[in-house]
Amino acid sequence: MEEIVPVCPVCSGKVTVKEVEKIVKGGSNVAILKVKAGVCSKCGERIYSKDTHEKIQKIRKELELGKTEDFEVIGRAYRYKVTA
Ligand SMILES: [Zn+2]
Repeated sequence: MEEIVPVCPVCSGKVTVKEVEKIVKGGSNVAILKVKAGVCSKCGERIYSKDTHEKIQKIRKELELGKTEDFEVIGRAYRYKVTA
């Protein structure tokens, strides 16, 4: 993960690499990805490496096109508008 900067670009906090869940939407499909990201200990900003970023874009495109053979189905996605 040498591409991830050790210092947060937003607040200059310390960034540590963690495995995080990222929700990606493409069209009406949604996937939860487990990805490595640098997480700022101060503001929570997530920083992805270039490779991870490109992979996320690719997955978003696959979701859009409905190419989900490689994805594990874990449930349904719902939409609910909270008007309170
Ligand atoms: Zn920060």
